[in-house]
Formats: sequence, structure tokens, C-alpha cells
Amino acid sequence: MTNIEQYKVHKEPFYQAQGDEVALYEAAYKARLPVMVKGPTGCGKSRFIEYMAWKLNKPLITVACNEDMTASDLVGRYLLDANGTRWLDGPLTTAARIGAICYLDEVVEARQDTTVVIHPLTDHRRTLPLDKKGELIEAHPDFQLVISYNPGYQSLMKDLKQSTKQRFTGFEFDYPDAALESEILAKETGLGIEVCSKLVQIGQAARNLKGHGLDEGISTRLLVYAATLIKNGVDAKAACRMALVRPITDDADIRDTLDHAIDVSF
Ligand code: ADP
Repeated sequence: MTNIEQYKVHKEPFYQAQGDEVALYEAAYKARLPVMVKGPTGCGKSRFIEYMAWKLNKPLITVACNEDMTASDLVGRYLLDANGTRWLDGPLTTAARIGAICYLDEVVEARQDTTVVIHPLTDHRRTLPLDKKGELIEAHPDFQLVISYNPGYQSLMKDLKQSTKQRFTGFEFDYPDAALESEILAKETGLGIEVCSKLVQIGQAARNLKGHGLDEGISTRLLVYAATLIKNGVDAKAACRMALVRPITDDADIRDTLDHAIDVSF
């Protein structure tokens, strides 16, 4: 028997709502509709799902998808051990059995065969065929499938197919507006709101460079890193260079532009 408690979110995660997403998610969950959360990296998608799992008091199983991930990694496989072969459920199977919210983070990264296995779980069938085991699982009534993806990264090769997209309801996330983002940094790290506002200004300046030398702007996650370092006593300029600039660009001109914006702010 799987211990469901280990998958529960026991402590309320801090989540600052940006609109009516909490009520809408609750409505989707009530009808057990599959949910897709779109948005740039580090804008609060995973935090939102974690918060909803806590609020609904349901277990949450998160899978970080990558390009080497196959359907077996999700569904399960036979393992060989001293006593012979033994079936081991994958995370999707576990979630379907115990009635968890299964969150497939960055699902387009995974190989195409993985999207095929989620299809029967996302319509009226709510089933998961374990072909290799010859078993058909009926999903637990509490089971819900959630996927995230970053539309900015999608190449034509890697986009989700319409036949997959049209099985989900969708939320479009973006970085919060300046006042809200400053509040998130302050609440998340305990750093004063004035300094948080300055960090957000730098973040917003960098986001304007998206498409002009930057693939992606500075995420809320990186702003939280910078605020954490400053809160822990690191010099503000050094913290910003380290957390906001060095990770996101290898281009000397862009780096200098951002470093200059930091010098102006602090
Ligand atoms: P992703 O969109 O990549 O899943 P995360 O949910 O991991 O991003 O968010 C990255 C970090 O940003 C979180 O760990 C949290 O510190 C912060 N964050 C972003 N948005 C919010 C929000 N609305 N409320 C609280 N924290 C947030």
C-alpha cells in the first residue's frame, strides 16, 4: 500500500494570487477537468499547483519532464531483482491509483509517446492502460492531471499537438505586475519592500530586452534569489549580478546593459 500522506502538502505554501485563478482551479478540480498552466519559467506555475493541492487537501505527485523521459518512466516498468521480475508503478500510475493531482512539469520536453499515455486519462474514460503488465487502471475519483509548459520555448517540433491541447482547460500565467511582484519578494524572503521594488524594476527592465538579445526575461524565481542573498547580508549589486544577470546571458553587451541598470538602482 502506498502511503498517501507522504504526497500531501502539509504546510500552507505562500501563494499570492494574481486574479481569480484559485476559484477557477477549484471549479476545474470539482469537475476533475485536466488543467494546463502556461507561462514563462519561474513565474509561479508550480507554486500555484502546490498551493491548490494544499488547499484541496489532495496528494500531489510532481514529475519534472525531460527529453529522455519515456512513457515507461511515467507508467512503470518491470524490474529484475534477486527474486525475479517485479513491477514498479511509475509516478503517473501511482497518482491514478491513489487519487493524487499529477503535475507533469514542462510536458513538451518529454518524448511523444508520453503524450499518448495521458490521453485516456484526460477524457471520459479516465483510464490508464499498463500495456506491458496487461492491466487497465481506472483512475481514482480524486485523480486529476495537470501539465505545465512554457510557450516561449516551443519550437515547431516540440509544440503539443492540438489533439493533446484540446483535452485540457488552460491558465495563462505571466510575471505579476510590479506592486504584486514586490510584495511576493518581500513576503517570500522578509526583505524590505523598498529594496524589493528596486529588484522588480531591474527585472522589468530586463524583460523589455526579451527578443532583443534575451530569450527570456528575469524570472520571479531569480528575483527571489537576489532578495534572499541581500537579506542574508550580500551587497545588493553583487547579489543582483550573481542572481539576475550571470545566469541568463552569455552576451557581453547585454550583460553590461543589465549591470548598468543595477548600478543605477543601487
Ligand atoms: P514555475 O512557473 O517555473 O513553475 P515557480 O512556481 O517555481 O515557477 O516559481 C518560482 C518562485 O517564484 C517560487 O519558488 C516563489 O518563490 C516565487 N513565486 C512566483 N510567483 C509567486 C506567487 N504568485 N506567489 C508566491 N511566490 C511566487
